[in-house]
Amino acid sequence: MAERLSVDVLVVGSGASGLAAAVSAEKAGARVALVTKGALQSCNSAKAQGGIQAAFGDDDSPEQHAEDVWQSSHETANRQLVEVLTAEAPGAIHWLEEHGVEFTGENGGYRLARCGGATRKRLLQVGDRTGHAITTGLRDAFLASSGDAYPNCPLVSLEREANGWRATCLRKNGEELQFDAGAVVLAAGGRCYREAEERGELSTNHPGATGEVTKIALELGAESRDLDALQYHPNGGAWPPTMQGYSIPETTRAYGATLLNADGEEFTDPLGPRDAVSQAIFDEVEAGRGVETPDGHPAVMLDTTRIATHDAEISLPYMLRRYRSGGIDPLRQPLLTYPVLHYQNGGLVIDERSETTLEGLFACGEIAGGTHGRNRMMGNSLLECTVFGRRAGAAAAERAA
Ligand SMILES: Cc1cc2nc3c(=O)[nH]c(=O)nc-3n(C[C@H](O)[C@H](O)[C@H](O)COP(=O)(O)OP(=O)(O)OC[C@H]3O[C@@H](n4cnc5c(N)ncnc54)[C@H](O)[C@@H]3O)c2cc1C
Repeated sequence: MAERLSVDVLVVGSGASGLAAAVSAEKAGARVALVTKGALQSCNSAKAQGGIQAAFGDDDSPEQHAEDVWQSSHETANRQLVEVLTAEAPGAIHWLEEHGVEFTGENGGYRLARCGGATRKRLLQVGDRTGHAITTGLRDAFLASSGDAYPNCPLVSLEREANGWRATCLRKNGEELQFDAGAVVLAAGGRCYREAEERGELSTNHPGATGEVTKIALELGAESRDLDALQYHPNGGAWPPTMQGYSIPETTRAYGATLLNADGEEFTDPLGPRDAVSQAIFDEVEAGRGVETPDGHPAVMLDTTRIATHDAEISLPYMLRRYRSGGIDPLRQPLLTYPVLHYQNGGLVIDERSETTLEGLFACGEIAGGTHGRNRMMGNSLLECTVFGRRAGAAAAERAA
């Protein structure tokens, strides 16, 4: 007999979106359980380096932020979700600070960088371990609350019940654990790890990014959008082998790095939208103007020698450490780079409360679609996790009450 537990809100996934939802639902008075596939720390969110967007600059506004998202999505995003995302961004940053996240400061304010597709400097950072800082802060908050965490306990099936949902999870020892929950928040991330395996390509993603929870929701009848729109990170590491599949932070380009072909010529705007920069690299290599890595892979050069030492030390210390330990100093020689599978742009359709098209079933983070349309800007995923994770948690608690 499977062990059975009853909760108000069940959260599936321990990335930034699941943690934000779990913390918010608990704060709203719900009895919360969080299940996740591997260790609590195992997720894409913890790997996120570059940063998180919010309009804090004197020349910036949530409206301008929304316009940049809209343009970067090629006008395919859900405008209402975009407006929620950008309007709540400054509040989301302060909420993260309340949970212990210390963003890098400068001149009495935040250190802001301009990222691809942005018309203003808007990217806040915690060095280049922003996702690690956010997940640590939120995880500590959840573990200190009345909520219960179940690592190594993946969701394997979900059924609708008269008063909510019955979720079946599988413990490491093979035993089933069932939850009767008033509301469920799906925060199980994207599928780029599995997709890359199937294509025989590299991915930046952690091995848990396999997409089976999306499949469960689709089989229950939940609607989805843009699921075919997968994003390549323009700057996967191509050499040395230890850096293959690593995403060189986009902040390298924000702080002055440029993309060069075999002739040392710049061939694209380094701060264009992600899909445009990735496509420009594919095209350059296709046209025979790329370079080859020592093990025969295609690449172009990312000239990181143009980054000021001061900026690199403050905003790229982890990247510097990783490359230097592989024998390459990015401040002395260009890096070899090629696009790498990175992000699932689309996902389950949600409304402004993060509810899917199925009542009482919420979704937030990479598993949800609409906020980025078919092309996400960097720095808006951690933001989406925080803004819509909070919304999902609060709405799920209300639904279950
Ligand atoms: C290397 C890298 C760098 C990035 N840099 C940035 C950046 O600088 N800024 C930015 O905004 N975004 C960045 N991103 C994107 C962003 O980090 C992710 O899209 C986002 O964090 C996803 O959060 P999430 O909570 O939706 O999913 P995840 O963080 O992936 O968490 C999903 C969770 O669900 C669990 N799970 C999966 N299947 C099941 C199951 N069956 N049952 C239970 N649990 C399950 C997983 O184990 C995991 O805990 C980066 C991504 C990567 C990979």
